[in-house]
This record gives sequence, C-alpha cells and structure tokens, in this order.
Amino acid sequence: MKIVLASNNSGKLAELQAMLAPLGMDLVRQADLGIGEADEPFRTFVENALAKARHAASESGLPALADDAGLCVDAFGGLPGVDTAYYATQFGYQKGDDNNVSALLEQMAGIDNRRAAMVSTLVALRSADDPEPLIAVGRVTGEIARERRGGGGFGFDPVMFIPEFGQTFAELPTAVKNAHSHRGRAAAHMVELMRQRWL
Ligand code: IMP
Repeated sequence: MKIVLASNNSGKLAELQAMLAPLGMDLVRQADLGIGEADEPFRTFVENALAKARHAASESGLPALADDAGLCVDAFGGLPGVDTAYYATQFGYQKGDDNNVSALLEQMAGIDNRRAAMVSTLVALRSADDPEPLIAVGRVTGEIARERRGGGGFGFDPVMFIPEFGQTFAELPTAVKNAHSHRGRAAAHMVELMRQRWL
C-alpha cells in the first residue's frame, strides 16, 4: 500500500519508512507528488495533524500520514505546544533551535516547576473523507534543565533532562534517545493501530 507523508522532513521520512516497511507500506513525501504544505491554523497538535493528513489525502487520492509535534511546559499550561518551532520569535529572537533554548531558559528563570513533555501526534487517514482517523500520541516527560548540557540531538535536547537517565537528551547516545523519544513512541503506536485496523 502506498501512503503519502504530509511532511517534507527527510529525517522523519526515513524513520517512519523503516517502521512501516514491515507492514508492506511504501511511504512517499507529498513534495515528491507535487503537493504543497497545508495551513496549520489550529491550537492543538491533533487538529493540525488531521488538517495536514486530510490535505495530503485529498490532493493525492492516497491514504495519508501526518504529524505535529512540540514542547509542552507544565508551568505554561502546556505551551508553547503548536507554536514550539517559532517560540523564540515571540521574544524578539530569530527562528531557530538555539534561540528557542535561550528564550525558554529566560522565560523559566524564576520558575521552580520545570516539568515538560515533548509530544508527537500522528494522524493517518485512508482517504480525505475517512470518518475514523487513526491517532497515535507519543510523549516523553522530563524537566527543563537550568543550563544547556550535551552536544547531541537538536531542538530542545540540550535542556530536556530525563530523570530516569540522569542526563539530557543531548548527552544520551542517539540510539538511546530515539528508543525513548516522543516520535518513536508515537510511530510504534501508529504501526500497531494500522496493523489492527487497516490490514
Ligand atoms: P517538529 O514538528 O517535529 O519539526 O518539531 C517542532 C518543534 O519541536 C521544533 O522546534 C523542534 O526543534 C522541536 N523538537 C521536535 N523534536 C524534538 C526532539 O526530539 N528533541 C528536541 N526538540 C524537538
């Protein structure tokens, strides 16, 4: 079965492709089918992922898979959430991973509740009209460190301290991080849902 991925990120494509191959699914990027990106106007991950999957299914006539992800900080009522990639721009910085971390450390300077989660939401549709989307959520909880530690990973990894390892994601070997990441957990759950419901 061919399925279109509503993302142009080649890292995500490779990771998801590897997980879906055992199900006989062949994942193709929407850009490779000439499909542009959908708007993401909503305030929740699930709404944005659904909008992206529906757009890709509608434009391609194929089943579609989309994801939306971000950081949810307890002390901020779950924000920045869907605004995570642009977080730094709210505080006058340019968009970018390092600026995101700087802005977060500044905004949390006087805050003792450091709990936060990285959240990944995957949505899959058999067609644009599918009334029963498959929805898989993966999260990893940790604490926002008070300073950067480690040189690996990307995004918020240098300040995402995982108590069970006593290290930040940026300090852990990539394979360990990936095995415990929000994205890996969501993908494993989605594979299980597809196996049960679509095959
Ligand atoms: P995306 O939607 O997966 O591209 O990610 C949304 C935002 O979350 C971006 O600012 C990423 O840098 C950040 N992010 C996504 N995954 C991770 C991760 O595994 N570690 C740290 N930050 C991440």
